[in-house]
Amino acid sequence: MNSIRQQGIGMTSQRTRERLVQRLMEQGIRQVAVLEAIRTTPRHLFIDEALAHRAYEDVSLPIGFGQTISQPYIVARMTEIALAGRKHVERVLEIGTGCGYQAAILSRLVSQVYSIERINPLLSRARKRFQDLGLKNISARLGDGNEGWPEHAPYDAIIAAAVAPEAPPELLRELAEGGVLVMPVGDSLQQELRTYTRQRGEIIEQALEPVRFVPLLDGVVRQ
Ligand code: SAH
Repeated sequence: MNSIRQQGIGMTSQRTRERLVQRLMEQGIRQVAVLEAIRTTPRHLFIDEALAHRAYEDVSLPIGFGQTISQPYIVARMTEIALAGRKHVERVLEIGTGCGYQAAILSRLVSQVYSIERINPLLSRARKRFQDLGLKNISARLGDGNEGWPEHAPYDAIIAAAVAPEAPPELLRELAEGGVLVMPVGDSLQQELRTYTRQRGEIIEQALEPVRFVPLLDGVVRQ
């Protein structure tokens, strides 16, 4: 990739990114490693060039197929929760690769990221970005995230970037002891971010703040 495009200029420059990080700190994001991952990941490369000038605003933006790239605050927040202050996190599963931004942030913080996307064209574009950015510890595949990815389970954390009426049972099954599932739960009108933590075999549920996500849908879209 063209290195000027990668570094960014004007509204996609390093200074613009610094302002975003400043804003996330003001909103309560504290983990230095998470802030550093946001600072060093070029979000403008995960969206259409026509929208790139808005990449470092704290907003969600369209990525095609009726989907969106999550707001940086929510990516940072879910990442913080998934890491739960742990120094070393081995394996994380993400449901809903989308443009790949959340996976790219995670790839800088954990050993291995597994990510599932149900819309094939989005998956192909995300994979290309991982390659261009040299992010080698992300495995992404086409699939229905409701079914998890049992081959690599158990996971220290699972992040779902799409809302469901309740946590998919298979995802809870794939949590390691001490592992946490972070996901929005609710319907199209009302949703809250929740965590499900596996402790001594039991699942402990906790409700956090209100959020807004696209729905977790069944099946896959090949074209
Ligand atoms: N992680 C993305 C957010 C993408 S939006 C980011 O970093 O911005 C949510 C994504 O979840 C969409 O791409 C949507 O297609 C996908 N999705 C919805 N239901 C799914 C399912 N059952 N399995 C896998 N992906 C799903």
